[in-house]
Amino acid sequence: MKPAFHHKLLNGRYGDPCLVVRIIRERRALLFDLGDIHALSPAVLSRVTDVFVSHTHIDHFIGFDAMLRATLRRSAPLTLYGPSGITRNVEGRLRGYAWNLIREYPAEIVVVEYSGRSLRRAVFRAESGFAKQTLPRTASDGLLLEDPAFTVRAAVLDHGIPCLAFSLEEPFRMNIDKDRLLRRNLTVGPWLTVLKRKVREGSIAGYLIVGRKRYALRDLLDIVRLGRGQKICYATDIGINRKNAGKLIALAKNADSFYCEAYFMEEDRRLAAGRYHLTTGECGRIARSAGVGKLYPMHFSPRYHGSEAELIKEVEEEFGGRIS
Ligand SMILES: [Zn+2]
Ligand SMILES: [Zn+2]
Repeated sequence: MKPAFHHKLLNGRYGDPCLVVRIIRERRALLFDLGDIHALSPAVLSRVTDVFVSHTHIDHFIGFDAMLRATLRRSAPLTLYGPSGITRNVEGRLRGYAWNLIREYPAEIVVVEYSGRSLRRAVFRAESGFAKQTLPRTASDGLLLEDPAFTVRAAVLDHGIPCLAFSLEEPFRMNIDKDRLLRRNLTVGPWLTVLKRKVREGSIAGYLIVGRKRYALRDLLDIVRLGRGQKICYATDIGINRKNAGKLIALAKNADSFYCEAYFMEEDRRLAAGRYHLTTGECGRIARSAGVGKLYPMHFSPRYHGSEAELIKEVEEEFGGRIS
C-alpha cells in the first residue's frame, strides 16, 4: 500500500523551515511553515491549498510573498492557519503592496487564527484590493481542518509568543483483500478506486459495475480492510518547560513521522532557555515519550554549521529510535 502522504523538509536541517506534504491521491499539497520556499517547483506550488504557520518570526514566514505571488491568478482559495495575531501579520504584508490592477483576479486568501479555544476566520479577496472581511468565531479544541482524506490538529505552545505545533493524520488506511477478491471472482480495475473513495467519504449507498455485473456497494465492503492511518507531526520553536512537553507529547503520540526542532546543543542549554527553543536532548526525550516511529530533527542553529553529526548524536542518545 502506497503511503498517502509524501513529506520532505524543503531546506534541510539548517535552512528556514518549510515541510512540504504532498497528498498524491488528491493532487494536493500542504505546507508546514513558510520559510524560504524558492526551492518549491511551480507544479507543487500550484497545488498548495493549505499552509500551517507555527508563528510569524521571519524565518518561518518570509516565504509568504512568494506564496501570495503564486496564488494571485488561481481560482482555488489559499488558506493559512496560524496562532493568535497571524491575521494582523497577513494584513500588514498585503498592505505593503499596491493592488489597483488586479481587481478581476480570482485570488482569495483565507486566514484562520487558532487561540487555543476558538478559530477566527478572515478573508482577503483580490477583487476588493485585499480588504479584510471578518467571519464569525467558532469553538475548537484544536481541530483546524477536517477533510475526508485527513485531519489537521494543533496545540498552542509557548515560544515567548504563542506558537502552534501540528499533527496531520489520515483517518484510516485502506487495503484491498486480494484473496477475497479472487475468491469472489472479481477483477482488479478502476472500480476499486471508486469503492475506496466512497468508503473514505462514508457514502456507501448505491451501486458499482464490476465486469458486466452490478453490485450494491455494501456487498463489496468485505474486500476492504481498514487499518491505522499515517500520522505526521511538526513542531518547532518551543520553550523548554513541562507544560510545552506535555502538550507536544500528547499531540505527537505514536506519530509515524515526527519533525521536531533541536535548535541548540546540550552545552548551550542556557541560550535555549533564553530563546525559548529546544535542545537536542529535549527533542530526543519528547520524541521517546511520544513513542514516535521516526524522528526528523531539524531547525539547527546556523552556529553549528558543519556539526550536523554531533547534533544528531545528541538527539539519538536520548531518543534511541529511528532517526532520519
Ligand atoms: Zn521563532
Ligand atoms: Zn525559528
